[in-house]
Amino acid sequence: MALLEVSDLRKYFVVEKGIVRKNRNYVKAVDGVSFTLDKNQTLGIVGESGCGKTTLGKTVLRLLEPDSGVITLNVNGRSINVLDADEEEMRLVRKKMQMVFQDPQSSLNPRMPVKSIIGEPLKILKIAEDPEEREGIVLNLLTDVGLGKEHMERYPHEFSSGQRQRIGIARALAVGPDLIILDEPTSSVDVSVQAQVLNLLKRLQETWNMAYLFISHDLGVVYHMSDRIAVMYLGKIVEVADADRIFDNPLHPYTRALLSALPFPDPEFRGKKKRILLEGTVPDPINPPPGCRFHTRCFERKANRPCKREEPGMREVEKKHLVACHNY
Ligand code: SF4
Repeated sequence: MALLEVSDLRKYFVVEKGIVRKNRNYVKAVDGVSFTLDKNQTLGIVGESGCGKTTLGKTVLRLLEPDSGVITLNVNGRSINVLDADEEEMRLVRKKMQMVFQDPQSSLNPRMPVKSIIGEPLKILKIAEDPEEREGIVLNLLTDVGLGKEHMERYPHEFSSGQRQRIGIARALAVGPDLIILDEPTSSVDVSVQAQVLNLLKRLQETWNMAYLFISHDLGVVYHMSDRIAVMYLGKIVEVADADRIFDNPLHPYTRALLSALPFPDPEFRGKKKRILLEGTVPDPINPPPGCRFHTRCFERKANRPCKREEPGMREVEKKHLVACHNY
């Protein structure tokens, strides 16, 4: 049984235009997304900025309320319907699913010392109510993420971006999660320490036996981190497969374009991947194109296919490799 099952999830945002006569439009940020994530595995979600991946992460955790869909978390021998959870179930969900945000600067309270930032969830979720016990746990967590006792009393502004992200990770770990949603965890970290943060995340995953939902615009980073990869375009998943299959046999034209833009160090491999330049820009998510949402930029579109009128459904083209494209 998968740890997390997400089915047909939707999250729309209302946009009102005009002062007198208000026209209601919707940004379909997440529009019918389904996936599963197994225990101790990493599912990478990749796509351009604005494709809905951050909204997806927040909606799974119910930091944003979805409009429809089903989210099931299977923990401690229980299947919890996250969207219909009672207070006690929601407390368990909050313990078992955590999020590390893109910008550690704004996600850490600047007026709190590190020991309170990391200790707060332990207190709120009644994991360690005794202050001394809490401090002991916080110190262990800091050590786990490569910080130490000397950092306990310091405030977020006294740290580098990489250290702040380590604090964010320690705070997520504090409650003993089974799943962490990592939203672009290295995008606001100095380039020189990005690899350190990624390696730390890998090491922690092994020692803490956690699953990751790893969200990033960078397919190279996602490949390095993930067992499976889901490619998102304009609120929808267009391809999902094991990370190696996405690299060895990308099927969706959008995936192929993303992959062709990667700088491969190996010249032999690079030679096989001719750069595909997509025409145009990502369409307005308020008014996405009918049929296949990618058809306005697709270099594989053919007149004899229903790309402009029919939305392609997800099909399993090879084992555990699904794609939404009329070519298959
Ligand atoms: Fe391109 Fe048509 Fe496939 Fe869409 S369905 S990706 S337009 S070939």
